[in-house]
Amino acid sequence: MKTGKIIKVAGPLVVAEGMENANIFDMVKVGEKGLIGEIIEMRGDKASIQVYEETTGIGPGDPVVTTGEPLSIELGPGLIESMFDGIQRPLDAFAKAANSQFLTKGVAVKSLDRERVWNFVPTAKVGDVVEAGDVIGTVQETTVVLHKIMVPYGVKGTIKEIKAGDFTIVDTVCIVETEKGDKELTLMQKWPARKGRPYARKLKPDAPMTTGQRVVDTFFPVAKGGAAAVPGPFGAGKTVVQHQIAKWGDTEIVVYVGCGERGNEMTDVLNEFPELKDPKTGQSLMKRTVLIANTSNMPVAAREACIYTGITIAEYFRDMGYSVSIMADSTSRWAEALREMSGRLEEMPGDEGYPAYLGSRLADYYERAGKVVCLGKDGREGAVTAIGAVSPPGGDLSEPVTQATLRIVKVFWGLDAQLAYKRHFPSINWLNSYSLYADTIDEWMNNEVSSDWSSLRQEAMTLLQEESGLQEIVSLVGIDALSENDRLKLEVSKSIREDYLQQNAFHEVDTYASLDKQYKMLKLILLFKKEAERALKAGVYLNEILALSEIRDKIARSKYIPEENLSRMNEIEAELKSAIDTLINEKGGVLNA
Ligand code: ADP
Ligand code: MG
Repeated sequence: MKTGKIIKVAGPLVVAEGMENANIFDMVKVGEKGLIGEIIEMRGDKASIQVYEETTGIGPGDPVVTTGEPLSIELGPGLIESMFDGIQRPLDAFAKAANSQFLTKGVAVKSLDRERVWNFVPTAKVGDVVEAGDVIGTVQETTVVLHKIMVPYGVKGTIKEIKAGDFTIVDTVCIVETEKGDKELTLMQKWPARKGRPYARKLKPDAPMTTGQRVVDTFFPVAKGGAAAVPGPFGAGKTVVQHQIAKWGDTEIVVYVGCGERGNEMTDVLNEFPELKDPKTGQSLMKRTVLIANTSNMPVAAREACIYTGITIAEYFRDMGYSVSIMADSTSRWAEALREMSGRLEEMPGDEGYPAYLGSRLADYYERAGKVVCLGKDGREGAVTAIGAVSPPGGDLSEPVTQATLRIVKVFWGLDAQLAYKRHFPSINWLNSYSLYADTIDEWMNNEVSSDWSSLRQEAMTLLQEESGLQEIVSLVGIDALSENDRLKLEVSKSIREDYLQQNAFHEVDTYASLDKQYKMLKLILLFKKEAERALKAGVYLNEILALSEIRDKIARSKYIPEENLSRMNEIEAELKSAIDTLINEKGGVLNA
């Protein structure tokens, strides 16, 4: 293979000449140490290379060789419970994250462990005709993840041999006789990170990816296979939202990409996730999680690659028929890496220095989310749901990364500095956030949770919207200017905000609410309104109703009722009705007027 020569080094960007036999997006080895890089621009025989490691110590004249292959991800048993860097080099998880000791430069490490032995159980047999996506067997990768071994893309033929037993990921487990000769299959396959993995067809996302977070599931739900963005200024709660969804999101596999944020946040993930009991399996959350970390102290170029590495792994598990969620924290740090490389390439800068292709690159990422019918004859369905944090400088949502993201994703959870300052968490602003899946998911909820779900949700949202108008009147002319009914509306919307929307991620019980609990809580809060209106009609004064402190307190504290005691809520309903009855009786009023 012909060797090129470096003519320029500018930080993570290296330009080499004599590279006419290389292609754009080829991985290359740079310098004597063989630092890992990727060609991001070709002009004649000159290649511009983004180098994924520190470039100190290399200079003009040093050799560059292409591997002739794009950045490829190793897919197979061993992904789960691992932590990789942006180009899928394994980070010896705990020690590395804690001491910021990263891989030695230019050391060629394999992404997946070549020594570890897995028990392969064939599900296909000799003589079976197979094609891409067909499952030929399984490996119990962790106690909760059954890894399906699939025929790789481009392979089609008849199984000539298939073996059960213990194998490493590079041992041959199956031989397929194809038109182009015999093809040996291993437990591992590879896929270029920047290219979406193929599927049979896309489906319309119609079911929610529930998160156990009330403001999200009730008001701004994301569909399984959908995409959502969480923009917010520093300290608003982006990382907590992402962690909560990783922990409680209704998916079988979690891919968590820590992208350009502080290293200690990844350490938090590493410390917390293994401790966390998965509500569905009772096992540690890590048993179904893959971590990708390219924190702020790691080389910037690999940050650009990390989201593609993450989503390729997510798609691979989707292809097995699983529902996968991928969190990226933060896509703004990713975009800054893109901007830095673009600047060094001396490309024409667009808005705020970001390259003109910022929007299309973001779309390349988010469009890989989706609900699909997978390749393979059994027609299984899988989904990738993508949640991206965005950190707009100063919280200014008009900046390019936020704007480009909002043009693509269908859910916007706008975190609000003022709410965070008031300790209203999650600080998702209910007045400007939206979910374009809400209508479809309403239907699902009405069928699956309760037929009045969408009407309750609508009623609560209307109250919240009316509240800001009423508050304005109060601030101008005082509370006395309001009718008792309007004052009641203010009380109830306050209750929706404080008792329902606010949810403490760090409280043992409150951290998660099932849809059933969400429904019962919302119904209870709105029942208070209905019952209060009944009393007002019968001549009871609002102040007397508001003085029912015991029952109101119970409503407020219903968020702390554990999932296994939800029937308590029915008792509170009954208590509420009888307290109101008593008030009306005292007035000599007619019950149920
Ligand atoms: P960001 O990533 O936007 O900078 P974080 O997610 O780190 O912000 O949140 C900052 C702090 O806000 C957290 O350390 C925590 O104290 C508080 N916080 C955020 N969300 C919640 C929540 N749902 N419940 C309780 N506290 C929260
Ligand atoms: Mg954060």
